[in-house]
Amino acid sequence: MEQSRLDLTLKINEIFYSIQGESRFVGWPTVFVRTSGCHLRCTYCDTTYAYYEGGKKSVREILQEIEKHKTPYVCLTGGEPLLQKNLNALTTELCDRGFQVSIETSGDLNCLDLDPRAFKVVDVKTPDSGEPEAFCRDNLDLPSETTEFKFVICSPGDLEWAEAFCQENQLFERFNVLYSPSFGKIEPRWLAEQLLNKKSRARLQMQLHKYIWSPDQRGV
Ligand code: SF4
Repeated sequence: MEQSRLDLTLKINEIFYSIQGESRFVGWPTVFVRTSGCHLRCTYCDTTYAYYEGGKKSVREILQEIEKHKTPYVCLTGGEPLLQKNLNALTTELCDRGFQVSIETSGDLNCLDLDPRAFKVVDVKTPDSGEPEAFCRDNLDLPSETTEFKFVICSPGDLEWAEAFCQENQLFERFNVLYSPSFGKIEPRWLAEQLLNKKSRARLQMQLHKYIWSPDQRGV
C-alpha cells in the first residue's frame, strides 16, 4: 500500500510557539518547527543543541502540534531543514491547509525544488561566519516575490563583502536583502550608521526574539 504523505517522517528538534523575530513576517505569532541536524558550523550559531538532538515525527504528528496554536504562520527552521528528505511533504501539506509557510535555510543547498508557495529566507554566509563557501548559487534564480536573502554581519569586513556580493549579483535590484548584526559581536547602531552612510539598499534586521526572551527561552 502506498504510504500517505501524513505518515512520512522528519527528524524534529523542537516545535514551539513564539513571535517571529526576523524576515517579512517579523512580529507575527508563529509556530516554529525546528529540524535536527546541520552540516555547517557557523561561528555565531545559537542552535548548536539542534545539531544532533531530536526524534522522528510524522507529518501527521507535526500538524497536530501546529494546529493546537491556532495561528496561520509556520516557520520551518533548523538546523538545516533542507537536510530532511520529507521537508517538501510537510511544506506541501501545510500550504494545502492554508498555512503561510516560511523556510529558513543556510543557503548552502538548492531551494529551487521546494514548494513554490513557501517563502524562503536564504542566508548568504559571510567570511566571518566561518562558512564562507556555503552558498548554492542556483538559489540566485529563486523568484523574488517569495525569497529574501539574509546576511549576518560580524565585522566591518563582512559588511564590505556583503555589499560587494549584492552588487555583483544584482541582489538589491531583485530581492529584499536583510543585514542582521551578529548578536553580541557588533552594535546594531554601528550597522545602522554604516547602512545610512553607504546608502546601502539592504534593510537592517534585528533579531527581535533575542531582545524579548532570555537565551534559554523560546516563547510561551
Ligand atoms: S547554518 Fe544555521 S544551524 Fe547551521 S551552523 Fe549555521 S547558524 Fe547554526
